[in-house]
Amino acid sequence: MPSTRAPTTEPKTPPEAPKPAPSQAAGAKLSGPVRAMHKLGLVRDVDLALHLPMRYVDETRLTPIASLRDFDTAQVQGVVQECRVETRSRRQLLVRLADDSGELLLRLLHFYPSHQKTLAVGQTVRARGEVRAGFLGREMVHPEFRAVTAETPLPQVLTPVYPSSAQLPQAYLRKAVLSGLARAPLHELLPPGTVPAGLPPLRDALQLLHHPPRELDPAELEDHAHPAWQRLKFDELLAQQLSQAQAQATRATLAAPALHASPGGLAARLIAALPFTLTPAQQRVVAEITADINRPHPMHRLLQGDVGSGKTVVAALAAAVTMGAGWQCALMAPTEILAEQHFRKLVGWLEPLGITTAWLTGSRKGRARQAMVAQVASGEAMLVVGTHAVIQDDVAFARLGLAIVDEQHRFGVAQRLALRAKLGAQPDDSAKSGAPSDGEAGIEPHLLMMSATPIPRTLAMSYYADLDVSTIDELPPGRTPILTKVFADGKRDAVIARIRAEVLQGRQVYWVCPLVEESEHIDLQNATATHAELSAALPGVGVGLLHGRMKAAEKAAVMAQFTAGELKLLVATTVIEVGVDVPNASLMVIEHAERFGLAQLHQLRGRVGRGAVASVCVLLYTGPLSPTGKARLKAMAETHDGFEIARRDLDIRGPGEFMGARQSGDALLRFADLAEDSALLQQARAVASRLLREHPAATAAHVQRWLASKAEYLKA
Ligand code: ADP
Ligand code: MG
Repeated sequence: MPSTRAPTTEPKTPPEAPKPAPSQAAGAKLSGPVRAMHKLGLVRDVDLALHLPMRYVDETRLTPIASLRDFDTAQVQGVVQECRVETRSRRQLLVRLADDSGELLLRLLHFYPSHQKTLAVGQTVRARGEVRAGFLGREMVHPEFRAVTAETPLPQVLTPVYPSSAQLPQAYLRKAVLSGLARAPLHELLPPGTVPAGLPPLRDALQLLHHPPRELDPAELEDHAHPAWQRLKFDELLAQQLSQAQAQATRATLAAPALHASPGGLAARLIAALPFTLTPAQQRVVAEITADINRPHPMHRLLQGDVGSGKTVVAALAAAVTMGAGWQCALMAPTEILAEQHFRKLVGWLEPLGITTAWLTGSRKGRARQAMVAQVASGEAMLVVGTHAVIQDDVAFARLGLAIVDEQHRFGVAQRLALRAKLGAQPDDSAKSGAPSDGEAGIEPHLLMMSATPIPRTLAMSYYADLDVSTIDELPPGRTPILTKVFADGKRDAVIARIRAEVLQGRQVYWVCPLVEESEHIDLQNATATHAELSAALPGVGVGLLHGRMKAAEKAAVMAQFTAGELKLLVATTVIEVGVDVPNASLMVIEHAERFGLAQLHQLRGRVGRGAVASVCVLLYTGPLSPTGKARLKAMAETHDGFEIARRDLDIRGPGEFMGARQSGDALLRFADLAEDSALLQQARAVASRLLREHPAATAAHVQRWLASKAEYLKA
């Protein structure tokens, strides 16, 4: 139920149910609730029909007032005996309701004149809410209520409660779903014999889930094992399998340069020059990637590996194969700091081997940028490193063979879409910018994405969008595990003493300042104040400051000083979260650790433990901690495995947060769960390959039914 209880009397004109809006009209002006529905992906009738209740309320029966018990949630019907505004303590509306069996008080702490009218003496009222013992006898505080007559029939089915948003009243959404369900074409699309035995037709399943008969126990529906739910999950998994197969088939028709590494070529020379040997896991993923880019079809591969597992060198080797074959390589990172780190590392590895590198970020403007852009267009710069400035309109590659995106989950959907568009459109770019180009028409570059955050979203994407996955599942040898300690902020002085000891031993330290969600401004104040505090407490220690408001050149200068060891302690906001690599740093202090997400803490912690020295991560918290807060910090102290942390994160956050992700269209499986529903997934796989072979029309129709409104996200 909506948390604020609006009067539930029938409005004089019922809210108009939305007309099916064709997607072309998406740009047109939409009314508030319709816009809110679009945000939830509710565009077509079938989208509404597939928007399923998260729970149900039973409004099919009335409880006699005399048999109410405390803490029951119940529905009663009676005649108003008294309705008065009480003003003595706080202003509130008190209503005495009586049926044949007894009397009940309804208490409204917020009310409008319209409520008073509905609840006037003599009115017959139906009210539903939780019963509790009050000062004046049994009462319901803020029940839902509506005016009825003695003849008003009770609903025959359970009332659905839909996932919604603040801008979308439940009553409006219910009406919209009802009419969407009635209009949607829900005929069976799947040929006979393809739906697993025992599962009902889709139309019946939806009818039941939206309007379950009163005999059904809501609990049975809310846990999604009911055959009606199974049918929906099956259809959803099938759509996912089909769309993935379709995307793969489409990709196989696209051309990409077949990049071969020659013996003694650039990649071989890079391996020989590295100061370390690749781990077996690195060797395996390099083999997977080189096998892919060997083929004349574009690679779409996600390289995942925990923080510090050594993804950069894998990227460098893929780049070396590409450039050795005479094609350009672009490497993009979500932040300038990270791009700069890559730049330094890759340049350090590749320039001695004769590679010219260009550097493109948002802060590089004017002449400097033009010069770089010209080098990219002429093909002189073989390696192009930067932020998303790399894919801006004025950048045209001469021969782009491979695009690498680091920390890909940090790029927004819009940027990922822009990248895809850019990669698919090489020949047009030269026309647009007028730059000379010998780009080969119709050739797409290969795409390698890297991520240290194997969050479920990424997993979902890998099943949905057409991605192959390589995983680095071991860390380079010689790393001593990071010890994580959780301290209350009262231990601050002891922590500062520890910093001094660390610095005296020649080590370096990060201090990460609290995250203030609402305000970048407060973030900055905090970081500045902490910088002053620590500089005063640690005289003679070079203390640097790094925050998001600094100019890129300033940030780069501070990072360079820290990397060179001139600064011993770096006070920073979360700008250092991804990818920063200073092996001599051995202590990481995270202040107000309770304000960070687990994935983020794990990323931050990964900034230490990069060399051979034993490293420590101190999580400072300010109490009191909620039980969830405790569980999160405990999880951090107990495990270092990024996958395990992602799993616990999900457990702790629970499904509530999931809605957020779902609403933004990021989590692409709404009903099925890849782990829980693996049996259904197997069945869907088998059916998918049969449909693709034998029933192309049913395949297209099924994917259209399930995924058309999500198409934008699927491309990303
Ligand atoms: P991430 O996967 O988090 O991007 P990096 O690529 O930044 O990790 O690597 C972390 C550190 O480990 C770097 O200093 C890198 O040079 C080093 N490294 C990578 N591979 C190896 C290896 N096989 N042996 C030793 N050190 C390695
Ligand atoms: Mg990295």
